[in-house]
Amino acid sequence: MRLGLVEKGNYKTREFDDLTGYGMEVNGYTYDFGRILAETRQRVQSLWKIECPPDLLRKRLHFSELQYFNRMVKTDQYGIFYRNTGANVCLGLVDEEGTCNLVIHELAHEMHYRQGRYESCDEYVQECLAIMTEQEFGRRSFEFNPHFTGQQMLDQLMELPGFGPLSFLERWEILSKVGSIVQLSALINRYLDDREGRLLARWLETYCPGPEEDRMILNALAQTSQSYALYNRYLLLHRFIKVSGKYVLDRNQVQTLVRALGVLRELDQRYPDEPLTNLMEEVFGKL
Ligand SMILES: [Zn+2]
Repeated sequence: MRLGLVEKGNYKTREFDDLTGYGMEVNGYTYDFGRILAETRQRVQSLWKIECPPDLLRKRLHFSELQYFNRMVKTDQYGIFYRNTGANVCLGLVDEEGTCNLVIHELAHEMHYRQGRYESCDEYVQECLAIMTEQEFGRRSFEFNPHFTGQQMLDQLMELPGFGPLSFLERWEILSKVGSIVQLSALINRYLDDREGRLLARWLETYCPGPEEDRMILNALAQTSQSYALYNRYLLLHRFIKVSGKYVLDRNQVQTLVRALGVLRELDQRYPDEPLTNLMEEVFGKL
């Protein structure tokens, strides 16, 4: 456990085995590390149902004074996770309780990393997972990416009855297996479709020739709707399932649909102010 300090204008790093019994004041906020660590141990235990690994706090959690942290991290972050050193939390921006929330956010990245799933996924998924963990205790709003998008997608998932009511650990298991923003988008679409009576799932069963084509369509839908709000996803799913003949589609027809979804994505980027329903008519109306 390292403490980054600024003493008389000098940047210093002090090593501790345990910060219990140590306290400090930064920027008008007072921090009692014994309380922060005890709270963190308890949170790890209650979230992941494991005894907090001793080396987690001793070796992989560090704090820095605001000035020190700003020199190390040049963006708008309150905390940062590095694979090599672990979780780094800034002191002097929020009070002790808020700091416990910053700690659990960064430790969520550490847990994800320890499970071997951190490096194989993109930063949207990494942040979505850490923000979900932090939000068990308090909500912070993010104005920058990947955090902003990660939080928006989490909000959509939490609103859906197939995901939101699950226990933290169940949600963690599901989200930590996701690899990319497109897979995250596909997951939202799936829970949304479940809520809507599995219209899309039944459409696929009826008109799609096989599992590979299912995946192509679900993936294209996920890509196109990646930055959609829940309502626009709903509009897209409803409009999409109206595009079909009376028969099972052949592979060419499936590819036509996948291409159409790509065109919708392009139109959406080119005409961001045009209502989605108009763009969808433009694309699907001709099929
Ligand atoms: Zn994070």
